[in-house]
Amino acid sequence: MQKIAVIGAGTMGNGIAHVFAQNGFQVHLIDVAEAALQKALQTIGKNLDRQVAKGTVTEALKTETLANITTFTDIATGVKEADLVVEAATENINLKLKIFQDLDQHAKPDTILATNTSSISITKIAAVTKRPGKVIGMHFMNPVPVMKLVEIINGYATEKEVTKTIVALSEKLGKVPCVVNDYPGFIANRILMPMINEAIYSLFEGVAGIAEIDTVMKLGMAHPMGPLQLADFIGLDVCLSILNVLHDGFGNPKYAPCPLLVNMVTAGYLGAKSGEGFYKYTPGSKDLVVSDRFEG
Ligand code: NAD
Repeated sequence: MQKIAVIGAGTMGNGIAHVFAQNGFQVHLIDVAEAALQKALQTIGKNLDRQVAKGTVTEALKTETLANITTFTDIATGVKEADLVVEAATENINLKLKIFQDLDQHAKPDTILATNTSSISITKIAAVTKRPGKVIGMHFMNPVPVMKLVEIINGYATEKEVTKTIVALSEKLGKVPCVVNDYPGFIANRILMPMINEAIYSLFEGVAGIAEIDTVMKLGMAHPMGPLQLADFIGLDVCLSILNVLHDGFGNPKYAPCPLLVNMVTAGYLGAKSGEGFYKYTPGSKDLVVSDRFEG
């Protein structure tokens, strides 16, 4: 496996392209938006500069990594020669189904088609292709160059050889693969999201304040970030959408999203990306300041 196509050059796509390119793979980075491709190249460059400053990457490897990435706005051309495609486009089921139909048409018949989706069924994505056995989940964590885990998700029809290939490839990238089966939320979000939801319920019911809930989990459970801060970092809209996937997929009321989360998302308080969620974010400041709405 030498040639990798990455679909989507956003937060995850640029990280995935970076990691493959740094490990010697030829990467075709594909996005519908030329601006997203340019921004991705800048981000990869800045992240490589940081690695050079830390001494984890040499100047020569930085140059080689950047030279390994070519950008495309056309899927058909970008994936034509790929041995593996990793899809990391916007989390929208209809969009992903359309992308996988296109990939099935334009990629070589034996090319493995992987998706970085956080919550959409791999089996459902595979079912729109003529090669369901070659479709698999390859769920990287954010930020991709830093986080070690790759959650590998077997769809119902994924071939064993395909899983083996993706496990070996993840190890080649210096990552730690964990293979799981395709049920709502896989493992990472099935366990993380109910914890975040429970933290929001604890706030909603007045059991404790934001700082107290996060401090209990940070100091008591050695979590690097409290669940409310993590929810703000992930995006409250993303958390809500994944909880809805769990709730719909299992039909179990224990996954029902907390009404406070629903209200915050409806009102546009989405966490760090909108400037306010459980905490308030000021550009350039790293201080953790609880939102005024929850004070007093
Ligand atoms: P993002 O919004 O930062 O980037 C998505 C990119 O996809 C955009 O640049 C957009 O222009 C591009 N795109 C949209 N339609 C396209 C198409 N038809 N062809 C090519 N490109 C297209 O999103 P993100 O946060 O990088 O998330 C990407 C995927 O990764 C989602 O499936 C998400 O669930 C998953 N994921 C995200 C995180 C995270 O923390 N952000 C973590 C794990 C997995």
